[in-house]
Amino acid sequence: MNTLVKAGWLHTCTGAPPVRDGWFLFEGERFTAVGAPGEPCPPAGVTLDFSGRSVMPGLIDGHTHFSLSHADEIDPMPVMRQLQEPGPRKICKAVMYAGEHLRAGVTTVRGMGEDDFIDFDLKAAIDAGYIAGPRVIPAGAFISPTHGHGQTGQTVSDGVEGTRKNCRLNLAKGAELLKVFGSGGVVSGQAGLSRCTATPAELRAAVEEAAALGKYVAAHVHGGPGMDLCLAAGVRSLEHATLCTDEQIERIAAAGAWVTVTFSPLSHPAGLRNLDPRTQSRLDSVRRTYYAVVGKMLARGVNMCLGTDGVHGAMWFEAAEMEKCGAGKQQCLEFITRRAAEACRREKEIGSIAAGKYADFIVLRQNPLDDLAHLRSPLAVYMGGLKESERMNRA
Ligand SMILES: [Zn+2]
Repeated sequence: MNTLVKAGWLHTCTGAPPVRDGWFLFEGERFTAVGAPGEPCPPAGVTLDFSGRSVMPGLIDGHTHFSLSHADEIDPMPVMRQLQEPGPRKICKAVMYAGEHLRAGVTTVRGMGEDDFIDFDLKAAIDAGYIAGPRVIPAGAFISPTHGHGQTGQTVSDGVEGTRKNCRLNLAKGAELLKVFGSGGVVSGQAGLSRCTATPAELRAAVEEAAALGKYVAAHVHGGPGMDLCLAAGVRSLEHATLCTDEQIERIAAAGAWVTVTFSPLSHPAGLRNLDPRTQSRLDSVRRTYYAVVGKMLARGVNMCLGTDGVHGAMWFEAAEMEKCGAGKQQCLEFITRRAAEACRREKEIGSIAAGKYADFIVLRQNPLDDLAHLRSPLAVYMGGLKESERMNRA
């Protein structure tokens, strides 16, 4: 049965400006038609009237981890300890966070690495309808050496053969991308924020393994020589990229690579906190440079999307911070919808309101182009044509 949706403002996020009193139809899981006022509308069995509201595509979080949260008030513990929790316990938390994403309007999440491969099981449970949550794009276990960032000792990737083995293990389980490390991180890693613990040959091996199945590699990398190594190895998606030089930004743009910007762990009130002095100083150093670096990337036209990296559902915050770097509000909406779908290689299925794509859309009380904070707390969230509460009931 066809359902007609009437919007006060329709933000299709196809690259076109919003349409006053726009409408669209969906049937089953997919959009079937989109139109402006006055255009002939096929007959519909049901009408959802959101005339006073803004309607836009479901949001896409380009980088997070379901097993950890910087804002876990129930059982606060450092991120590295959260990663080392027993798998079943992480799954229980992940179910809660999956629901938080969906309620916040996030209908697709790209998982950027999980121990115990929990993202594959979480995705399977959501796809089967056991629990409510966003579409999951899984990376599986981190590809990190013994002394690398995020290493818990569970999946260790040392040497070219060790790297290939773990890449293939992830790919066999259904990874859509592989996650490597081009530098240390704020919370762990011997290499600091610019040195790389993986060798060029290990990075190339991961890129080769991914490419063999038509997949790609994303690298956690802040900057320094690690950024150069990732670019030389053919890494497609650069995560964080907080310390990029002007020359590196130029090379990222020339390569057509993607950057996933993650403001939330650094700047959101529920981001990284209660840190030891060494970790706090690392955090301060990247926060100091990040907004200027992202501003330069915007000016150069680098391909970008946004991710919350453990502050579940905070895509409204990511969009608002992007505006502070010089992006227009319309551009910010595209970074968390259409552009993010391209970053995830899912642009044929999600990311905009267009016939043939999944009927993932959210209803906002007020127009986000007046204030991006209106993205917060949507009135309704639909994924594949089903309202979030209907998904809960079905579960
Ligand atoms: Zn991350």
